[in-house]
Amino acid sequence: MNTAPDAPTAPPPLSAAADQARLDKLRHYRILDTLPERAYDDIVALARAVCGTSQAVMSFIDETRQWFKAAEGIDGEGTDRSIAFCDIAIRRPDDVTVVNDASAHPVFRSYPQVTGPDHLRFYAGAPMVTPDGHALGTVCVIDSEPRTLRAEQVDALRALARLAVQLLEGRRAQLETQRQLAERELVNRDLLRYQRQLERQNSLLEVEANTDALTGLLNRTGLEKLRQEFRGHETSPDQPFSVAVLDIDHFKRINDSLGHAAGDDVLRIVGEEIARCVRGGDIAVRYGGEEFLVIMPDTPLIGARTVVERVRQDVAARADLPMPVTISGGLAMGRSGRDTPEAIFQRADQALYRAKRRGRDRVEVDED
Ligand code: GH3
Ligand code: MG
Ligand code: MG
Repeated sequence: MNTAPDAPTAPPPLSAAADQARLDKLRHYRILDTLPERAYDDIVALARAVCGTSQAVMSFIDETRQWFKAAEGIDGEGTDRSIAFCDIAIRRPDDVTVVNDASAHPVFRSYPQVTGPDHLRFYAGAPMVTPDGHALGTVCVIDSEPRTLRAEQVDALRALARLAVQLLEGRRAQLETQRQLAERELVNRDLLRYQRQLERQNSLLEVEANTDALTGLLNRTGLEKLRQEFRGHETSPDQPFSVAVLDIDHFKRINDSLGHAAGDDVLRIVGEEIARCVRGGDIAVRYGGEEFLVIMPDTPLIGARTVVERVRQDVAARADLPMPVTISGGLAMGRSGRDTPEAIFQRADQALYRAKRRGRDRVEVDED
């Protein structure tokens, strides 16, 4: 039988490396300094009942102390490791260490529990050994009188130590599941953040792709996108809508006489005035080099003309132009459900052509 009754000397301590591996394992279970738990208390109660002793303990050996996860008939949370019977017991993981009379034992007789008021005489400790062979502590029984254990009591103590390890393994599996869940949660959160960032970037890119960099107005791509989005969303039929085409007069001369940068300044200023004069539902587009398009839903010619005239006059009045600038405009109106925007655009363009022919710096209205 693998008991070691009243071994005359204590086995040598574990090597520093072996003890470190054991401590690492112990930390894995995260059992130290946890609150009392019923299942561990039950194991200790059974150990005491089976062995008929006054005290029973489940003790874990950490670097410097033995800590009691569960205890019956004994006060306190543990003792210093240097005076722990259990620290001797774990040096023989396969054996139950039985000390029948500590006062007669060459090593234990000088321990303070033996010499002092605790009057410890009997000790039997079954190591709690992990599946990979590390003894973390013991399930042990203690008495103040010398005793002996029968073989079946020793076996029961050993079985209780095995049950304790099963509890620890279950605990570790649960902790691992929790850790994995938390990790997955974190990964999910990271993915979500990444997705949002991509969406933000995409919408910024989309805005960039649809916007004319110089004037901030929609470009042709943006206009086309808008038309596709609105296709199918039929507005109520027979509603008037107006289209204006604006073109800077003799723009080539500005470029030729003052340079391309001055030309760009003029384009920016005209863009600003268009953006300022149009209303909420209107769509303003830089359509080509120095041509602009304004689509005005729910707007008859008279209202549209007011808008375009204002643009023309406000551009002419801008004091920060590099040289006097005028613009010409052509205007046409259609009705939803009857006229396509393309057809109305053609008519507005013809009206613009007329404005150019008639001397520029004016707004002409489609005559149909
Ligand atoms: P009109 O009164 O008949 O419209 O004469 P125009 O000179 O304005 O017309 P034209 O179409 O002959 O010239 C347009 C000029 O606009 C030619 C082109 O070099 C210039 N242009 C087009 N895009 C830009 C641009 O982004 N920046 C600058 N600075 N010039 C541009
Ligand atoms: Mg022009
Ligand atoms: Mg032009």
